[in-house]
Amino acid sequence: MPLEQERVELNNTLVTESQKIQQETTTQITPLRRPRDYQQISLFKDVNPLDWEDWHWQLKHRIRKKEELAQIIKLTPDEEKGIDKASGRLSVAITPYWATLIDPEDPDCPLRRQAVPVAAESLIGPHEMVDPCAEDRDSPAAHLVHRYPDRVLLLATEQCAMYCRHCTRRRLVGEHRESSSPTKFDAAVEYIKANRKIRDVLISGGDPFILEDEEIESLIQKISSISHVEFLRLGTRVPVTLPQRITEKLVAMLKKYSPLWVSIHFNHPKEITKRCKIACDMLADAGIPLGSQTVLLKGINDRPYIMRRLMHELLKIRVRPYYIYQCDPVKGTQHFRTPVAVGINIVEKLRGHTSGYAVPTYVIDGPGGGGKIPVGPNYILSQAKGKYVLRNYKAKVYTYLE
Ligand code: SF4
Repeated sequence: MPLEQERVELNNTLVTESQKIQQETTTQITPLRRPRDYQQISLFKDVNPLDWEDWHWQLKHRIRKKEELAQIIKLTPDEEKGIDKASGRLSVAITPYWATLIDPEDPDCPLRRQAVPVAAESLIGPHEMVDPCAEDRDSPAAHLVHRYPDRVLLLATEQCAMYCRHCTRRRLVGEHRESSSPTKFDAAVEYIKANRKIRDVLISGGDPFILEDEEIESLIQKISSISHVEFLRLGTRVPVTLPQRITEKLVAMLKKYSPLWVSIHFNHPKEITKRCKIACDMLADAGIPLGSQTVLLKGINDRPYIMRRLMHELLKIRVRPYYIYQCDPVKGTQHFRTPVAVGINIVEKLRGHTSGYAVPTYVIDGPGGGGKIPVGPNYILSQAKGKYVLRNYKAKVYTYLE
């Protein structure tokens, strides 16, 4: 086929694809559902608003038993089996706040699926592992993971406000007893001190914001006083699962340690409630830069219009979309995993079709410890000496000469 004809045909195919994308990205979705009024739920009907707003109260009253959950949502036999089998594996704990966001009648509710186990969690899919990112192997000191040259991950706690059913660190996290010894992080801190290349420390877990303010500050102080550490990041999900935890006292403490960034795990636009916005506003108003991390989850956020809505809602609360992760092949999560093509298609339908700030990087964590590997649509159609043939988001073809 002559070159020009080939080019015209390619253009036509790409333009048709582009029209499909335009249609899908402009699909309207229904307005976000409001949370249920907690006083309408029998289990919480006598709770006073001050207790409801107290994060310690929320933590203490997390829903851990099938009988309690059955008073809030209509459990399916599959969920009942999942809860029975979850004992001894990843704990079940749902904050009362999160429980009000769950659709009581719909087992496919995206917030419900992230919190309530199903029987499929006890299956082990092909290629699934206990520690797919090989974090334990790359741990030079207790509670520390050192994979990339200039940054480390410090696991501050094994506990979270809520346990996400897709959790990659399910081998570690849960409601078991942890050491609270003041020397617990000494080896990790000494390792960071001794490695002058480390300029960035991510404190995650579990969820570091589950610790008391004094415990968080003590850890931040130890690390930020190391002269070669340029900045800190905290990885958390509490603005989403327990927004009451973001108190004025916590924010005032964090503000003292600028530059300090906070990465928040968001998966669905329904998570962005008024209460969540207040928590994010408090952090952003204190000058703390906020980024998001999202796990691509089958039946939860695997449609381009849902991801697009999520990214737009995040920007409205001053959270910059940062990563979309392919769901790691961790044991018991096969029912959440999509083909990689689904993630690539989502990026294709974001890039160029909406603000660049709303386009996170889609990554696969290389199984066995490869680190984050970006994957996405291919915009280079051909490449020869000094010449690139490229397509744009509308599938129009352009040639760039070097
Ligand atoms: S908050 Fe993070 S560490 Fe905790 S269960 Fe969810 S995904 Fe796992």
